[in-house]
Amino acid sequence: TPEYPFNNSYIEVDREVLRNNARYLQANLNEGVRTMAVVKADAYGHGAAEVCRTVGRFYDRFAVANVTEAVELRKSGVTHPILVFGVPTSRMAKAYKEFDLTAVISANDHFELLEPGTTCHVEIDTGMGRLGMSVNRLEELRDKVDAFSGGEKKLHIEGIMTHFATADEKDTRYIEHQKEQIGRLRSVFNNVLPVHAANSAASLAHPDTHFDMVRHGIALYGYDPSPDPGTGLHPAMKWKSSVAQCKKIRKGESISYGATWQAPEDGYYAVVPAGYADGYRRNLSGMMPVLIEGNWYRQVGRVTMDYVMIWLGKDAHEPGTEVLLMGGERNHAGLWAEAMDTIPYEICCGIHPKVPRKMV
Ligand code: PLP
Repeated sequence: TPEYPFNNSYIEVDREVLRNNARYLQANLNEGVRTMAVVKADAYGHGAAEVCRTVGRFYDRFAVANVTEAVELRKSGVTHPILVFGVPTSRMAKAYKEFDLTAVISANDHFELLEPGTTCHVEIDTGMGRLGMSVNRLEELRDKVDAFSGGEKKLHIEGIMTHFATADEKDTRYIEHQKEQIGRLRSVFNNVLPVHAANSAASLAHPDTHFDMVRHGIALYGYDPSPDPGTGLHPAMKWKSSVAQCKKIRKGESISYGATWQAPEDGYYAVVPAGYADGYRRNLSGMMPVLIEGNWYRQVGRVTMDYVMIWLGKDAHEPGTEVLLMGGERNHAGLWAEAMDTIPYEICCGIHPKVPRKMV
């Protein structure tokens, strides 16, 4: 890729894969359900502005973690409604109005601190144990919502949200408990305000939680978090680099810090730019394969700050030859996550912002 000098790695995001994931998710929705794409954390590391541009026609609105992310999206030309999940403070109250952002009221004092006319959703904690007002004081909350639905301090209260803690688990007892709480809150609010609760896993595995709107994050990027993952989603992200140097090594000579790996025979290895400073985690040393010109090779020795080394055996590859570090069938972020005992969310978000993101 001439745009990127060969001593850099970069992220490639496939627009058509994103769109196909969106199509797949929407085909599984109940009739009339509205949709929100969760593009916080720079769209889980995929590049939020471009993701919004790519999937805007499939989603009614977007959601981000904080006002800073939302303002960046507005400045990049995003015109959809943007919901800000984070906690509003009086310092940022003006920004919601100025940039036409939707606030989430997750505590009692937020009603007062937001400027009259601000669009907002009310968050209720039905069991997630993070943000949101207590599900045990619904009547009090309904009175508050009524009080702020008119008069001088009138807010534009558009909806009610809650979040699931276990939608991705096979054991459904906890989500059933949360569904009961949601049933209660819907009846207290007389089913007047739209309710949204489902994340990707709930959207796929629990159609009875679609209610009025769903919020898709990880599944849009191609990772199925439901207890029984299907095959309709595909990772949109590829992490690519290229051979910086191809070197000869003799049997028994070692590679990288600690001299922990020795060549099993005379052969070649590639030095490839991408290391833990880019988010290629050091504790993945020697674990993930890479793809070069259609062949899979082992990453060997310790991951260093700026480079990984790849054992090529008898194959020599020219400097500049493309290396697929992540995103292929044997090394996508889901497999990185398994190797690291974490979830693909953390892998995708963990690629350093200095690594350029490019849509193809
Ligand atoms: N809703 C809220 C409040 C979230 O915090 C998140 C992400 O963590 C999502 C929805 C999207 O979740 P997922 O990426 O699992 O679809």
